[in-house]
Amino acid sequence: MPTSAQHPCDPAVTCASCAARCCRLQVLLIGDNAVPERLTEESDWGGTVMRRLDDGWCTALNRDTLLCTIYAQRPAVCRDYLMGGAECIAERAA
Ligand code: SF4
Ligand code: SF4
Repeated sequence: MPTSAQHPCDPAVTCASCAARCCRLQVLLIGDNAVPERLTEESDWGGTVMRRLDDGWCTALNRDTLLCTIYAQRPAVCRDYLMGGAECIAERAA
């Protein structure tokens, strides 16, 4: 995965001014054994992903605070998602 050193982030971007937009993306689990199974599901193509509700948001998201309820055990994909990175900025603009 890219690092912030390879792809500088926009320091003006902050999760505090974002309604957890990236938590509506599909999150593939790759050896993320600490994630509670009840929050996961099998995708159409056979991979294990974070389960999402009908509105698209991840079931691990607290709807009141818009914070991740499994932050310490969150999947590697979520850990590698860079605040202010290219994907983040594109998602916020969508
Ligand atoms: S990482 Fe980016 S898209 Fe995700 S909540 Fe933070 S600002 Fe929003
Ligand atoms: S596991 Fe947490 S950080 Fe990852 S998409 Fe779900 S709520 Fe967001």
